[in-house]
Amino acid sequence: MSETAASEARQVHHTCPLCEATCGLTLTVEGDRVTRVRGDDEDVFSRGYLCPKGARLADLQDDADWLEAPLVRRGNDFERVSWDEAFQAVADGLLPVREKYGSNAVAAYLGNPNVHNLAGAFYVRPLLKALGSQNLFSASTVDQMPKHVSSGYLFGRPDAIPVPDLDRTDYLLLLGANPAASNGSLCTAPDFMGRLRALRERGGKLVVVDPRRTQTTDLADLHCFIRPGTDAAWLLSILHVLFAEGLADLGAVADFAAGADEVQRAVEGFSPERTAAATGIQPETTRQVARELAAAKTAAVYGRIGTHTVEFGSLAAWAVDLVNAFTGNLDRPGGALFPRPAHARPDGEPGTGSGFRIGRWRSRVRGYPEVRGELPVATLADEIETPGEGQVRALVTVAGNPVLSTPHSTRLDAALAGLDFMVCVDPYLNETTRHADVILPPPRALERSHYDLAFYGLSVRNVANYSPAVFPAPGPSEADLLARLALVLGGQGADADPSIVHEMMIGGMIQSSVGAKGSVVAGRDPAEIRAALGDREPTDQLVDILLRTGPYGDGFGANPDGLSLDKLEANPHGIDLGPLQPRLPGFLATPSGRIELAPPPLLEDLARLESRIADAPDAGRVLIGRRHVRSNNSWLHNVSALVRGRDRCTLQVHPEDAQELGLADGAKARVSSRVGSLVAPVELCDDLLPGVVSLPHGWGHDVPGTATQVARRHPGVNSNVLTDGEALDPLSGNAVLNGIPVQVEAL
Ligand code: SF4
Repeated sequence: MSETAASEARQVHHTCPLCEATCGLTLTVEGDRVTRVRGDDEDVFSRGYLCPKGARLADLQDDADWLEAPLVRRGNDFERVSWDEAFQAVADGLLPVREKYGSNAVAAYLGNPNVHNLAGAFYVRPLLKALGSQNLFSASTVDQMPKHVSSGYLFGRPDAIPVPDLDRTDYLLLLGANPAASNGSLCTAPDFMGRLRALRERGGKLVVVDPRRTQTTDLADLHCFIRPGTDAAWLLSILHVLFAEGLADLGAVADFAAGADEVQRAVEGFSPERTAAATGIQPETTRQVARELAAAKTAAVYGRIGTHTVEFGSLAAWAVDLVNAFTGNLDRPGGALFPRPAHARPDGEPGTGSGFRIGRWRSRVRGYPEVRGELPVATLADEIETPGEGQVRALVTVAGNPVLSTPHSTRLDAALAGLDFMVCVDPYLNETTRHADVILPPPRALERSHYDLAFYGLSVRNVANYSPAVFPAPGPSEADLLARLALVLGGQGADADPSIVHEMMIGGMIQSSVGAKGSVVAGRDPAEIRAALGDREPTDQLVDILLRTGPYGDGFGANPDGLSLDKLEANPHGIDLGPLQPRLPGFLATPSGRIELAPPPLLEDLARLESRIADAPDAGRVLIGRRHVRSNNSWLHNVSALVRGRDRCTLQVHPEDAQELGLADGAKARVSSRVGSLVAPVELCDDLLPGVVSLPHGWGHDVPGTATQVARRHPGVNSNVLTDGEALDPLSGNAVLNGIPVQVEAL
């Protein structure tokens, strides 16, 4: 670094927005570039930890393929246009479709990055309201929807997800998760693996259940190999043992839990002996784990992607909560607790909640129930291809690449090509957006402020951290972009002022705060609150209202030492708000005011599981996915440093299977499922359970018409060519991405 450059360099602190772990980063900034990224040693939560993705945040910021201006389709090509022209093109293309065919003819798909930025968190709602369509799809139904179903039924709040108290528990049972690669999910814990090591160092026990040996299982005291898709059956066997041996104890939640007897009756048929053939776990191991869970001073069960993206995902998610409850570990320190983030709203009165239900409407073609206002993305192609009233003819995507990330992708790819109109809010011309008529690129990651609205609500410690934007956005902010899109869809015209939406959002939030029972600002003058917000970006004003009216907030002067955005900004390493504390029964939103342990829809679904375990175990091969610490679904494959080196998109095959199939390491194999086939390089790997093969997801960048140069040089194959659009968990609509029956043959 030259002397001049060194003198110009500045250090800023910014929360990494790339995954759920919320690590604090220290960025060295010179001019308009980030020249160095380190973990922030003083960050109150991550304490210097960062992973290879966070270390490459500057590369993402500098990605030459990130679109700088909107694109509009002209024949087979795209033309760079002004923002006004782009919004006019959206109005000209989308509104006639809706006028002619009705609101449901325009669908929306929301990708996972929406939950990693403030504009996505706040502004998608007005956008969807303006859209007025029942055809809403998102990445939730290829990921975590079963957990929302379980929480909705048990606690009355689909977004209230108990997280394992990693830092205090004495015993952790982890299923279908590999935090060594994912850094944790639905459980925000920077340096997750360091926290697992600390658990063992303080004498705790770690048990991991997974069909594959991983870096996480290597750390475990006990690793149980399990047949993919059978976690629900195994957890119900744990419950069976707890009841059969008189070990079931609801602990502190017993006074406000309903349905314990129904649960006991429901698990009678799931003895460890009965499920062993299906799960592959010996009955004595199941009994041992059940007894240890019951005997541990504190324990927590945590299930993730491998328990959710299977045909019994909702039952598995429910069973995780039940085991926590019946070992006395639900809502107690060291067990599984609900975070209380700085932006939390007042709990409400137990017994006044409206509860949870699914199926307020159904998908037109296959009749799948709506869940949390969404339909399963696995049926999006059905809705586009099937003629008739309500057929989807246009699509709005925001931060999503469903051609790579959702089931039966060859079919969806073809369906998107047949749409009348498609507009994508996306930084790349990629496998999905190549079908668009208009692409609206958002600002880059460091051109927006950050506060983790989604993940502090799933955090193993109550923490708050705010990062201002590092660089100004050259175009509209993402909030302006989404607001203008909402205005176009609302018929306000392509040139409508986005501040209309900003004022509506801010005014609405103030009104609901001063009008809410129990709010620290109840009854105050909205104009006084509005004046106190200053002239920050609209998304920051919204965060400020939430913080100041939240459980640690300054109440706009009512609690002068409390939190505000100013205070967070003055503490760039974050503010620690302490360990998780019990929140029940106040947090419950069930109509009964109790934890509903035995919701009828889940009890009814048990018959399907019983019949599956009664069948002879399927001897066929099944496909599972896998993650890598340098990847995040489909969206970091255009960063050279994260994809270089040995090809990671390989078909892992156990050597016994390889011998039977005549496959050699490095050779090509054809993998076929009911809906498709692909060819992938073979990697012999004895980490797998024999009979299970593994392919990562998010790859397949070799289709024509994209402009992601790095990804195209490292294309891999798209595992969703093999996933079946008709294989779903029926309650949540979640796609089955693990345990897909496949045939494998040598080429
Ligand atoms: S673990 Fe997640 S939040 Fe932390 S540096 Fe890596 S990508 Fe960023």
